[in-house]
Amino acid sequence: MADEIVRIEIHEYDSSVVVGMPKDQKIKWKDIETAFRIHILEEHEPTGVQNLRAEDIIEELNRIPENIRKYVTSVVLAPFMCPYNDHFISKEEAEDGWTIIGSGDYYKNQITIYAVPLDRSTLRGVLRNELTLGHEAGHTIDGDPRAKAKLKTEARFISHTPHWTMAMCKDSKLNRGNTELSSYFVSKYAERCNLLNEDFADSVKFFSDEGCRAWLKQNFPSRYKFLENLLGPI
Ligand SMILES: [Zn+2]
Repeated sequence: MADEIVRIEIHEYDSSVVVGMPKDQKIKWKDIETAFRIHILEEHEPTGVQNLRAEDIIEELNRIPENIRKYVTSVVLAPFMCPYNDHFISKEEAEDGWTIIGSGDYYKNQITIYAVPLDRSTLRGVLRNELTLGHEAGHTIDGDPRAKAKLKTEARFISHTPHWTMAMCKDSKLNRGNTELSSYFVSKYAERCNLLNEDFADSVKFFSDEGCRAWLKQNFPSRYKFLENLLGPI
């Protein structure tokens, strides 16, 4: 793991560098540059609210193919909760223990992992099982100018183009035996959010994972083909 770290610098960054930070706050960050050119930011002096460490992120990034990983510039291990929690999670869901663990920003190609009050090994399990980084990388790709240039689209999001909705439409006409989905979305999560962006991010997530790729190809072949054309074969 250590040989994947190229350089460590200490910097004070505010919300102009770290998405979602309160405007007046400044935090001293350990800025860890990895061999695959992604910067991981963790608190220089940990306050104990973020239980994940840079090594946990490196381990996950190692599982993501380079042609997806290249759309990520930085991953922040934030010592604060998601500022948009109340916006996306209903009161009932919050009572059921729902919380936002990550987000992906396409302006800065930055993934933020928020502070969630669970122990480190549980959180590592969440990142692995939910494929959080693959999903958030999907959000950075969705609005990335390089990816959009390949499609020759002026749309703000790839997921909002006719190309993507056409792929969704074609996939919905197939008879799938092994999904419990009641609608045309790729996952229960995208269905719950009822958002094209989440359908795209979850599709990238499945495409990014060795175990899920064949499943995506079999059950959602048009999305698979679209992503293979956009991102290149894996
Ligand atoms: Zn998402």
